[in-house]
Amino acid sequence: CGIVGILGLHEVAPTLVEALRRLEYRGYDSAGIATLNDGRLDRRRAVGKLVNLSDLLVHEPLAGKAGIGHTRWATHGAPTLSNTHPHRAGPVAVVHNGIIENYRELRADLAAKGIAHETDTDTETVALLTRYHLEQGLSPVDAARRTLERLEGAYALLFLFDGEPDLMIAARKGSPLAVGHGAGEMFVGSDAIALAPMTDRVTYLEEGDIAVVTRDSLTITDADGAVVERPVKTIRLSN
Ligand code: GLU
Repeated sequence: CGIVGILGLHEVAPTLVEALRRLEYRGYDSAGIATLNDGRLDRRRAVGKLVNLSDLLVHEPLAGKAGIGHTRWATHGAPTLSNTHPHRAGPVAVVHNGIIENYRELRADLAAKGIAHETDTDTETVALLTRYHLEQGLSPVDAARRTLERLEGAYALLFLFDGEPDLMIAARKGSPLAVGHGAGEMFVGSDAIALAPMTDRVTYLEEGDIAVVTRDSLTITDADGAVVERPVKTIRLSN
């Protein structure tokens, strides 16, 4: 129900959890984060309150300067640990708000390729499909793009890839997403409130936009695949 992502200059786990806390008002039943540490994906997830996730992180810290996080409001699959985001398939981790309407069809296509699903979520199909596209030799950007072409429904999605510590891919269709600009850092969030402690310079993605984010660049393509300029707005939020 809430999404955050950071390509940072410092350890991101505490900042991801803090940003998720600012999205708590939306409601959620479980939460998780994934980071890239020395280029390797790892994740921590917990059912229930965010404090359960931050307790877990005390005992099992997650290092890394790039990461994504999620608070989940379950729509497909009970609020269990295995259904908690981020969802991972090999070298790709995904967080998702919304619903992938055609997930059954995607599951069937994956099953026909011998790829089984392990969770009850609609979201997992996004990770599985992207891994498949990577295995077909596509770059992370092209693999995500190919996956997004297959999706029906309303979503905000954020992708993070093994071995790509300077890359996040964000996509918006039906659920809002904002990209925050820092000094040598970039942030993504479901809303600007989540990003307020990090930056007040925000670019709002529009319907159908796909954003390729690095620490010092933001490239947005629209629903037709054309590169587009979206304004950077300075937001003023109290506290
Ligand atoms: N449909 C997804 C799930 O049930 C995402 C729900 C959400 O927006 O948090 O896992």
